[in-house]
Amino acid sequence: MSAELILARIMLLLVQAGLALALSYTLWHFYRIYQRHHLKSWAVGFLLFGCYLLALNLYSMVPAEYQLIHFALEFTHIFCHYSFAIWILLGVREAVSGERIAVRLVNRLHLVLLCLSLISVLLFVGEPTPNIWQQMVQTNLRLLFIGAALLVAGSWLMGLPRQLMVIRLVAWAVKLWGVQMVLLSLLISYLDNSGPLLQAVLVSKHLELLLQTVLGLGLVLWLQEDERHTNQQLTEKTLYLDSHDQLTGALNRDALLAQLSDLLAQQQPLVLVMLGLDKFKRVNETVGLKHGDRILREVTRRFEASVLKPRFVARTGGDIFALVLQDIQTEKQRQFCVNHLEQLIEKPFNFDSGMLKLTATMGLAQYPEHAASAESLLQKANIAFHQAKRQQQRWVQYLPGMEEETARMLLLEKELQQALTEKQFELFYQPQWHLRDQRIEGFEALVRWHHPSRGLLMPGQFLPEMERLGLMRELDFLLLEQAVSTLGRWRSRQLDLSVAVNMSPIHFEQPGLKQKIQQLLQQYNVSPTMLELEITENTAMGDMEQGRNYVSELQQMGIRVSIDDFGTGYSSLGYLRRMPIDKIKIDRSFIMDMAGSDSDMMIVKTMITLAHGLGKRILAEGVEDLHQLQLLKRMGCDTAQGYLLSKPLPEAEALALAKQPLAF
Ligand code: C2E
Ligand code: CA
Ligand code: CA
Repeated sequence: MSAELILARIMLLLVQAGLALALSYTLWHFYRIYQRHHLKSWAVGFLLFGCYLLALNLYSMVPAEYQLIHFALEFTHIFCHYSFAIWILLGVREAVSGERIAVRLVNRLHLVLLCLSLISVLLFVGEPTPNIWQQMVQTNLRLLFIGAALLVAGSWLMGLPRQLMVIRLVAWAVKLWGVQMVLLSLLISYLDNSGPLLQAVLVSKHLELLLQTVLGLGLVLWLQEDERHTNQQLTEKTLYLDSHDQLTGALNRDALLAQLSDLLAQQQPLVLVMLGLDKFKRVNETVGLKHGDRILREVTRRFEASVLKPRFVARTGGDIFALVLQDIQTEKQRQFCVNHLEQLIEKPFNFDSGMLKLTATMGLAQYPEHAASAESLLQKANIAFHQAKRQQQRWVQYLPGMEEETARMLLLEKELQQALTEKQFELFYQPQWHLRDQRIEGFEALVRWHHPSRGLLMPGQFLPEMERLGLMRELDFLLLEQAVSTLGRWRSRQLDLSVAVNMSPIHFEQPGLKQKIQQLLQQYNVSPTMLELEITENTAMGDMEQGRNYVSELQQMGIRVSIDDFGTGYSSLGYLRRMPIDKIKIDRSFIMDMAGSDSDMMIVKTMITLAHGLGKRILAEGVEDLHQLQLLKRMGCDTAQGYLLSKPLPEAEALALAKQPLAF
């Protein structure tokens, strides 16, 4: 070989080695930033390739006399070359699968390579001239192996899901490198160790340099593209998190407002539904927060997949969602959509431990009827939603003026709380007239509220609200105490008059009521026979068996229980017979129409006969004129109560009335 050729070869190998090491360093640098394992594998691969080239260079320069160095360099370049191919292959595998290759596998492969390299060197130690077998084992086999590895790596790269132009470029460079290796291996077998072979090797090495350069360039471009892509993804993720609720993936409040504003700009009619899951706090407590979160996600998914095709689904609070629906104009369509949303929520949620059913409350507001801006539309839907909650309705559509109603309710709530603490409630007493004995047998206690600014308020003006606010229990206790203390005062004046107290359905049968009554009776030294409790049919019917037991217990204490508003609820004969109640009070509506309606007259008559048949006393409510009174007397009714006798009166006036001689 001429000196120029040798120099050219040395220079070529040095350039190749420098390029490989520079590439290795670049890849390592990117690995340190992104911590992707395939980058590390490739960095190691190109480092080994550089080492291979340097060792090869030295090997060809060191004379054969330096046997040990010669041997070491021979072994090193063979091993590094094999190892380079393996690391490139492993790196591609990691890039394709996204997973790190097991260290054990890497170690085993290297053990095999180590043995292969050692054998291929040791086999020919001490041989004076290179022979055909040595070339086959040391060169052809190696080139074939590396060529095959690069071909496989190239085709794996083609299979990457993200097919960018740079990736294809890298894949083709790797593949061609593989082809070049295989061809070189074949060429070496055909050409003698002569001039043409040397030229072929030189051409091949130049080709390799070209491919290596293309590959290096491609890899760097790929990494940069990756970096750009990662940044873009990060930006997108940040944007997504900024506008979406992390838990459910639904829009958050701000994003809803922004996107709704854009939609409103198109001036198309739409409906905003604000939907809250009922008693979700309790659900969270029962099934745990994790399952609670699951329900919220499931609800969002159900909304998104619904046939209503909501334009937007947002979660604006813990258990509150907002949906924007289009193409809803008629009442029928609105009803359909509300029913459908209800069904979506009521569909059971399944857990390992069982299933759960939920209900929802909704508030609706419409564009353009109710608001012109997104913010105001959301506010209107919110007002309607709270109205629905307050009135315990499934859904409420916003109506102009609801804001005032809401404000009024909020004020009333505050005032009611204050009224309870400041005892602004007073009981009025309405007499109950014993028809046969012609005397007042007792009074019904009816609550009035001395409102600081609005004057005297009737129960209808505040009881429903108190019930909704859950204040009835407190009020019932307060009034019970007032009634029993009145009885105490009357007893001390030797007045034998009973008082009937109305019990709200929620309160009756609640633990503590009996004890409270007992304690009050003792405190005011009142006989239990003077106290009567009025309950409605429906209260007692709730759980008949339990209701019956409860009434029995009260009766055993000596307290009488009567059925109020009889005929307006649902009761049965069987129920009346088995209930140990003392008195039945016929509702005012029957008495009112009795004189002019034969059927009402028949009903009243039947009720009286029925009550007596069951051994109960009977009272007619709402007796307003003498004619009604006389009819009732003739029908055998026991007691009458109504404006004819007196309206409900303050305690002192009621007492004065009781002392007055009366006759009807
Ligand atoms: P209720 O228990 O049926 O009480 C009878 C109602 O009819 C009373 O109305 C009474 O003033 C009225 N009334 C009595 N006689 C006549 C009549 O001849 N003609 C007409 N038109 N009305 C008559 P009020 O006082 O407004 O009470 C309304 C309802 O509020 C009561 O109906 C009762 O359900 C409830 N309520 C009243 N006070 C209390 C209370 O202290 N506790 C509880 N839980 N509920 C009460
Ligand atoms: Ca009553
Ligand atoms: Ca009544």
